[in-house]
Amino acid sequence: MSSEELPPRESMEFDVVIVGAGPSGLSAAIRLKELNAELNIVVVEKGSEVGAHILSGAVIDPVGLDKLVPDWRQDADCPLKTQVKTDKFFWMTGGSAIPLPAFIMPPLMNNHHCYIGSLGQLCRWLAGKAEALGVEIYPGFAATEVLYDEKGAVRGIATGDMGIAKDGSHKASFTRGMELCGKYTLFAEGARGSLTKQLVAKFSLDANSQPPKFGIGLKEVWQIDPAKHQKGLIQHSFGWPLDNSMGGGSFLYHYDDNLVAVGFVVHLNYQDPYLSPFDEFQRFKTHPAIRTLFEGGKRLAYGARAITEGGYQSVPRLSFAGGALIGCAAGAERGNNLFGRQHAATHRIMHALDARHIDKARGAADQRAARKAQARHRLVATLGDGARAIGKPLAALE
Ligand SMILES: Cc1cc2nc3c(=O)[nH]c(=O)nc-3n(C[C@H](O)[C@H](O)[C@H](O)COP(=O)(O)OP(=O)(O)OC[C@H]3O[C@@H](n4cnc5c(N)ncnc54)[C@H](O)[C@@H]3O)c2cc1C
Repeated sequence: MSSEELPPRESMEFDVVIVGAGPSGLSAAIRLKELNAELNIVVVEKGSEVGAHILSGAVIDPVGLDKLVPDWRQDADCPLKTQVKTDKFFWMTGGSAIPLPAFIMPPLMNNHHCYIGSLGQLCRWLAGKAEALGVEIYPGFAATEVLYDEKGAVRGIATGDMGIAKDGSHKASFTRGMELCGKYTLFAEGARGSLTKQLVAKFSLDANSQPPKFGIGLKEVWQIDPAKHQKGLIQHSFGWPLDNSMGGGSFLYHYDDNLVAVGFVVHLNYQDPYLSPFDEFQRFKTHPAIRTLFEGGKRLAYGARAITEGGYQSVPRLSFAGGALIGCAAGAERGNNLFGRQHAATHRIMHALDARHIDKARGAADQRAARKAQARHRLVATLGDGARAIGKPLAALE
């Protein structure tokens, strides 16, 4: 059956369509509902359930969560239970781990106010909050196509057809995708989203920015011997097994009941074509200072995914007719150092959340409030543009 012969897709109308139920998509949905409970908001998530594709296991700066769900610490269901107690940083050589004193680290690397937990679980919890506010969330549906109106503005997305065999033929179970149309569509696909890439090309969003940069992040969750567990300890390292020509490093977080999230990030600009980030990660775990931690433990989960590392200069224009890019889809992890990661999720949340406040502050006589809001946003490399991009169209929805 050619595409012309396919039956038409059914269509549903919303105020806001959000692609991706990661931290930024869900936070945007919650915040929009808080701002205007009448808004019809739908979130599509390609993972089989919310959180299924979220890997980070994670030191989370609660600055965004404090704004979004101020009483989260009192919520017994919130999965962030472990506060960072000890924060260590090492330079690794093949045989030793040399501790670096905290005072030489920039404030960005101070994690003491942060929490350790599973970002996937946090997303599931956020999804519950969003649904309680009336947001419709559809896991198991990938947005595969951007829909445009006759003027070329984004008018929503289409989910993929289902029931297609490997050879492209249609199985008996073939079902057409749905058109989800919105006055405004937010793309929160995370790093290197497929629709995001199309939008960047179509609207030349990167005309005035540098090429994006990416890393690969590999992560495992272990249950370790309780005698070795130090709840609240986080440690990062650089150096071995990478040489000086390569960027990246490790993270290791002790949290909850004898869990350790261990991972390795390799910047994807390495020159050696034979380098295998996965094998470097495995080698890292054999270091004399690391190996014993995992002896007698059990690996519970593992995965890998892209991580944005472009920095401010790589942030594309974030808005276009009918929509905007938010979160890591917007491309600006503060990737010049490994620690940018832990701020990314909440900053992406802020990116969506604060848009309205900035907009309000700009319009208000109180320029001091505006300056304060702007100053807050300077902490978040991407937000200046994002606020302009998202604030006005969202205000128009109300
Ligand atoms: C190994 C690793 C460790 C990290 N550690 C930390 C850390 O310690 N602290 C921290 O704050 N951050 C950490 N990060 C970064 C953090 O994961 C991201 O900044 C954050 O997840 C970005 O949120 P997001 O909502 O923008 O995108 P994502 O979390 O990537 O969410 C995007 C969602 O959209 C869905 N999606 C994508 N495309 C589509 C589509 N076309 N249709 C439907 N659904 C779609 C995906 O399945 C996913 O659920 C880490 C990342 C990695 C890879």
